[in-house]
Amino acid sequence: MALIVKKFGGSSVATPDKMQSIVQRVLKGMKEDDQVVLVVSAMGDTTDELVSLARQVTSKPYGREMDMLLSTGEQISIALMAMAFAEAGHKAVSFTGAQAGIVTSKAYNKGRILEINAERVKEALQEGNIVIVAGFQGMTDDGDITTLGRGGSDTTAVAVAGAINADACEIYTDVDGIYTSDPRVVPEARKMEEITYGEMLEMAKLGAGVMQPRAVEMGSRFNVPIHVRSTFSEIKGTMIQEGYSMEVKQYLIRGVAEDKNVAKVTILGVPNKPGYAYRIFAELADHNIDVDMIVQSVRVANEGVTDITFTVSRDDSALVRDVLAEIRDELSIEDILIDERMGKVSVVGAGMAGHPGIAASMFGIMSDNGINIEIISTSEISITCLIGEESVDKAVRAIHAHFFDKD
Ligand code: ADP
Ligand code: ASP
Ligand code: MG
Repeated sequence: MALIVKKFGGSSVATPDKMQSIVQRVLKGMKEDDQVVLVVSAMGDTTDELVSLARQVTSKPYGREMDMLLSTGEQISIALMAMAFAEAGHKAVSFTGAQAGIVTSKAYNKGRILEINAERVKEALQEGNIVIVAGFQGMTDDGDITTLGRGGSDTTAVAVAGAINADACEIYTDVDGIYTSDPRVVPEARKMEEITYGEMLEMAKLGAGVMQPRAVEMGSRFNVPIHVRSTFSEIKGTMIQEGYSMEVKQYLIRGVAEDKNVAKVTILGVPNKPGYAYRIFAELADHNIDVDMIVQSVRVANEGVTDITFTVSRDDSALVRDVLAEIRDELSIEDILIDERMGKVSVVGAGMAGHPGIAASMFGIMSDNGINIEIISTSEISITCLIGEESVDKAVRAIHAHFFDKD
C-alpha cells in the first residue's frame, strides 16, 4: 500500500476536461489499496481574476476580506474534482483547508502553517475516499480563513504529506521538472534529474516560481522527497531531496533565477543616529512585510543623514508606502521613493562557495550587455543583482549561456 499526495496546479485543472483527464490518470495509476490525497489549485487564472476584481473595488490591502475572496478559487476546484471522481466511479470527498485541519498564523495573505490536525483526512482515506484538499488556504485559531501567499498550494501539498506521513509527494505542473532556468525565458535551459532542498530553496526564494519556497522548506523539515513532474506526460520529472543520489558532475552553478515582482524603496535623509533603522524595519515587520536586500549609506557631504534602500515584493509596495507615510514626520525622513519596475537576477549553486570568479563573470556579463547593477547581494550559495525589470530576461539568457552552454 502506498500513501501519496499529488498536487495539481492551476493550469493543470484549468478546465473540466483537464480535471477529467486528471481523474483518469489518478485512477489508472492507483493500485487496489493505495491511498491518495489530491491538493488542487484554483482553475487557470482564477486567483489573478479574483485579485483584479478586488482591485476594481479598492486599492487598499484588506487582508481578511482578500483571503475570504481568494480562498473561493480553490473551493471551486475541489468540489468539481470530487464530483468528477464520483462520476468516474470512485468515492471522493473534498475538504477546504480548514476542514483538512490546516491551522495557520493570523497573517492574512501570507499565513504560515502552524499545525495540521489531519484526523479527518485520515478517516476519509480509511473509508476508501480519494481526499481532495483545497490548496493555498487554512484557518486561524479564531476561525478566520487565511491564504498562504501566491503559489501556496505547493506548501499545502508538502505540509499535508508531512502530516500524514505520506510515502511520496508529487507536484504536477505545466513543465516536466525543474530546469536550470525558467524554460519560458531560456529555451536552452536543461532539466535536472535531481536537486537538493538547499539549492531549490534558494532558487525558489530568488524567483523560480515553479515551487513556493516554503514548500521546499517543509519538504526539508519533514524529509519528504518532492517529485516535480508534468501533468500532461508520464515522463519522470525532478526529485527535490536531501542530497544527490547519483554522482553528479560538480556544478559550480546549478541554476539562474529571475524575479520581476520587485519594488525598490529608497528612504532619503534618515537621521544618522542609533535606533532609526530599527524603528523603520520594526514597523515593516509588524505589518508582515518581507524585506529583502538592504543598503544603508551615509552621505559623504553630510554625515548627519543616511539614505536607506531596500527591496520588497511588488505586491507589498502599496502597504510599504502607507506604513512609511505614518512614521515619516516622526522620524524626520526627507523623502520616500518607490520604484516598482525593478527585477532580480541570481545565480545559484552550492558549488560556488570558494570560487570568487563567479561574481566577476556575472558582473562582466552585465557590463557586456550594458545593464546597470543597482544593488548586489550574496549568500553562501547565490549571487543576486538588482537591475531594471526590462533587462531581466536578457540578463538571464546571457548568464545562462555563459555558465551552461560550454559544457
Ligand atoms: P502551477 O500552476 O502548476 O503551480 P506555476 O506556474 O506556479 O505552476 O509553476 C510552473 C512554472 O514555473 C513553469 O511554467 C515555468 O515557467 C516556471 N518556472 C520558473 N522557473 C523555473 C525552473 N527553474 N524550472 C521549471 N519551471 C520554472
Ligand atoms: N491559486 C493560488 C495562486 O494562484 C495558489 C496556487 O496556485 O498555488 O497563487
Ligand atoms: Mg505554482
